[in-house]
Amino acid sequence: MESLPSFPEATAVNATSKSIHVSQQPITLHNWYKKINWLNTTLVVLIPTFGLYLTHSTPLKRPTLLWSILYYFCTAFGITGGYHRLWSHRCYSARLPFRLFLAFTGAGAIQGSIRWWSANHRAHHRWTDTMKDPYSVMRGLLFSHIGWMVLNNDPKVKGRTDISDLDSDPIVVWQHKHYGKCLLFAAWVFPMLVAGLGWGDWWGGLVYAGIIRACFVQQATFCVNSLAHWIGEQPFDDRRSPRDHVLTALVTMGEGYHNFHHEFPSDYRNGIIWYQYDPTKWLIFLLSKIPLLPQTYSLKTFRSNEIEKGRLQQQQKALDKKRLALDWGAPLAQLPVIDWDDFRARCTEEGAALVAIAGIIHDVSTFVAEHPGGKTLIKSAIGKDATALFNGGVYEHSNAAHNLLSTMRVGVLRGGQEVEVWKKQWASTEGQEKAKVLKQVTRVEKPAVAAVAA
Ligand SMILES: [Zn+2]
Ligand SMILES: [Zn+2]
Repeated sequence: MESLPSFPEATAVNATSKSIHVSQQPITLHNWYKKINWLNTTLVVLIPTFGLYLTHSTPLKRPTLLWSILYYFCTAFGITGGYHRLWSHRCYSARLPFRLFLAFTGAGAIQGSIRWWSANHRAHHRWTDTMKDPYSVMRGLLFSHIGWMVLNNDPKVKGRTDISDLDSDPIVVWQHKHYGKCLLFAAWVFPMLVAGLGWGDWWGGLVYAGIIRACFVQQATFCVNSLAHWIGEQPFDDRRSPRDHVLTALVTMGEGYHNFHHEFPSDYRNGIIWYQYDPTKWLIFLLSKIPLLPQTYSLKTFRSNEIEKGRLQQQQKALDKKRLALDWGAPLAQLPVIDWDDFRARCTEEGAALVAIAGIIHDVSTFVAEHPGGKTLIKSAIGKDATALFNGGVYEHSNAAHNLLSTMRVGVLRGGQEVEVWKKQWASTEGQEKAKVLKQVTRVEKPAVAAVAA
């Protein structure tokens, strides 16, 4: 696994071409420490833990608290609006002053350089849920949250992506090259300077606006890789793990509508409905409306027609699942074709209680006693074509009656209306038969009066 700041190649040296990478070796007393990426562990575990310890002896002053909250949002936005939506996905374009602001605040979030972060993130989108996904949730919630950073992973496993556009962006290149200094200044020195020069709270500025604030930003952003692939709805696609949840959105400045985001990654929005909490989108939008000096432009959105298609397909999938759980009777394609004479003979000679309706033969023997219209009427239809009787000749049966009738199917009448033809057509195309389920074939819009029984 590459290290979090700007010296990724250094740790990759472990992986000589023929040796087994330490991450693939069983853990022993002699190699456990090699399995840990100590630089990342220091930045995302040890320093934050030490910061939490320091809070016991560091009084929190009100201006420092307010500054910490403000700088929290600035640095979180550096990740969500900058690292993620601007550089990883190119969802919009930004003017130089704003790009500098994002590169600075993003560095203050202590999550690696833009180049490193975006390369990982593009791999995450391209190979979601596979071993090539650097923070695949399939390897466990904890791994996707923080494990992928604190452990040394085999660099050969991670998927590679094209970042040539980032390599031709001077801000990205400069920030990557000087990431160590950028981190030090933006994450710790700058917030300390503001609090120190502003109201004399140097130490509090470092502890709260520096270390603790960065810890909160890190944990919030990590939730996009873990929680947003774990809890919530999947309104656009359920083949992979990304999910939409307001809780994740609240924690991550709107990045919680992750199912939408994975389906439409180049859309500058994550929450597309007006009431969905997506302050990153609101800020990008507002910055594009600044008179004379808009800081953002070319905001990309997918056509709502495409978005609604995805939503509808997902709803259809859910309906299909429910439909398949119900008994709709034997599929017509599986029923035997029976001659009219055979049908008659079974009723008159063998005493079977068969009724033909719309070309389908139904066995009503277990239903005669329960027939709401009485035994006499249903018995009078046995051995006959009762299409017209059933469809209004005697009584216009309800939709529920057609549904119940379908569960009594036992055969298809040879030459019986269109059904035999359908049966042949559908024998190889099961989907078409399913489509017909919602409209029962026994339902005849204009009762075939002439068909009343031989
Ligand atoms: Zn994701
Ligand atoms: Zn993304």
